[in-house]
Amino acid sequence: MSRFFRSRYSNLIPYTPGEQPRNMEYIKLNTNESPFPPGESVVRAMEKAASRANLYNDPECTSLRRKAAELYGTGADNITCTNGSDEILYLAFSAFFDEAAFPDITYGFYKVYADVLGIKADIKPLREDFTIDVSDYTGIGKGIVIANPNAQTGIALPKSDIERIVASNQDSVVIVDEAYIDFGGESCVDLTKKYPNLLVTQTFSKSRSLAGARIGFGIGNEQLIADINTLRYSMNPYNVNTATQWAAEAAIEDNESYMANCAVIVENREYTSSRLRKLGFDVLPSSSNFIFAKSDRLDGGYIYEELKKKGVLVRHFTDERMKDHIRVTIGTREQMDIFIGKVEQLL
Ligand SMILES: *Cc1c(COP(=O)(O)O)cnc(C)c1O
Repeated sequence: MSRFFRSRYSNLIPYTPGEQPRNMEYIKLNTNESPFPPGESVVRAMEKAASRANLYNDPECTSLRRKAAELYGTGADNITCTNGSDEILYLAFSAFFDEAAFPDITYGFYKVYADVLGIKADIKPLREDFTIDVSDYTGIGKGIVIANPNAQTGIALPKSDIERIVASNQDSVVIVDEAYIDFGGESCVDLTKKYPNLLVTQTFSKSRSLAGARIGFGIGNEQLIADINTLRYSMNPYNVNTATQWAAEAAIEDNESYMANCAVIVENREYTSSRLRKLGFDVLPSSSNFIFAKSDRLDGGYIYEELKKKGVLVRHFTDERMKDHIRVTIGTREQMDIFIGKVEQLL
């Protein structure tokens, strides 16, 4: 740390992204990316955008928002586009939260954003079975952020439970992070029409093969969106580059192909879960593109290390409540068979 770093940041622990090693070819099951490359139309759109790199991109993402509005069944003014959904989360935390409640086991960025923005974090432990206790969040009168399906566990809350949380906290904003909604669970996008305090975030990183292009969406009441845009225009209005805007439009036009990919992932998830259970793993019921699993014999850290030596990367978290588990992204059937084969060798 230099002596110039502001003292308010001296204890800041930044987010740790999953490894992206370049030293060898791994089977990458550690960062919940799609195993499928983007379609031809997306690649062509990005290539076409390259020749326009001398011009500024559209800060309002006009055309993309119009298409996204059709996809989500909202108006274009109910949507703002961001550099991945991480950015919409950061902007929404900045715009709406003095204090924020979220589970102890969830997306790691919530705590980091709370810390960097000086927001008080009210951390609510998940129950023993890793489910959310809805009563922890009803009528608490403070900012709330819930990933649904939840990160690390993959468990989804029913829409009726989300609605209870939103309805009972009408004087504060509830963010529902739907990064994994295309793999299961019920979207709450339509509830944004009923509840002006609900912001839903989505991303094309997991379900539409665009993790490296960085495109996320905030969906909510016009006034919430306008507030977020006030902050966005106070920092970086050009947050989504032209190639990404065009890529995302092409992905929406080809939505059926991406939803078909998601269906394959869901099938592979159920296949992998059942194979692991036969090997003595406790696998949480996942509605996402990853599973969170614990062996009855082997330590999570050990499995992670040994699989890495064998060329398979999974995610391991060292937190007390997660250290026995591994989180495994669901890839192609072939990748999952290799993963299971290596696990069998370890056992
Ligand atoms: C991956 C993820 C995000 C962020 O995705 P982006 O790539 O920034 O769009 C947000 N929330 C959750 C729960 C995630 O798992």
